[in-house]
Amino acid sequence: MIRKNRGILTVVSGFSGSGKGTIMKELMKKYSERYALSISATTRAPRPGECDGVEYFFRTREEFERMIAEDALIEYAQFVGNYYGTPRTYVEEQLNAGKDVILEIEIQGALKVKKKFPDTLLLFVSPPSAGELKNRLVGRGTETMEVIDSRLARAVEEAEGIEEYDYLVINDDLEECVEEVNHIIRNEHYRVSRNREVIERMRKELRDFSKK
Ligand code: ADP
Ligand code: 5GP
Repeated sequence: MIRKNRGILTVVSGFSGSGKGTIMKELMKKYSERYALSISATTRAPRPGECDGVEYFFRTREEFERMIAEDALIEYAQFVGNYYGTPRTYVEEQLNAGKDVILEIEIQGALKVKKKFPDTLLLFVSPPSAGELKNRLVGRGTETMEVIDSRLARAVEEAEGIEEYDYLVINDDLEECVEEVNHIIRNEHYRVSRNREVIERMRKELRDFSKK
């Protein structure tokens, strides 16, 4: 068996409005048996249609700071005035169950996760152009122009960090992009460094042959 038992931890980042959330929804719809999407905690207010425990665990600042104090988060960061963080338990359970776990988080959090778990796969999603990014943010219609401008300003900073990532995926055609993400994560299972147990078992079996 080539596939290792433990799942791969993947971080997906990208400018606000690049389409990460949309890609993750499609990926989970198509391949729910393979992937587990971590649900973050945040202090930002729910957008229309967002439900507690589905898109995010919506928490007060006080509740969030308690989670930090209890070490219940793998990482957390501030993004345009709000806290966002990854609850620890779900990620560990799902990785142990052999699922490939995806964290859809911003760059500071991504780098913290990479430092804690060096075999994390880092994937960056970009729209085809800056103009398209703005169109998507405006078209989504969930933020004021002021917040959109802050998110675009944040994108300038985030663009400086793209080289920290392993892969860059352009979200132009949504379906193609979903397949690219799926292939990148699937292929990662075949990396020699992720198959140490299989290699050791094969070596042992071969040595046992020559003993007979
Ligand atoms: P993010 O999670 O990165 O902030 P969203 O998934 O909310 O971004 O997408 C931002 C907007 O762009 C949404 O209105 C979404 O429907 C739209 N969108 C996402 N992917 C595409 C795509 N490939 N082509 C056109 N529009 C897209
Ligand atoms: P949004 O408010 O658009 O849902 O998310 C804003 C940013 O926060 C996005 O870049 C998103 O990826 C990031 N984010 C969501 N959850 C987390 C998290 O748990 N940790 C960190 N560091 N960033 C997160």
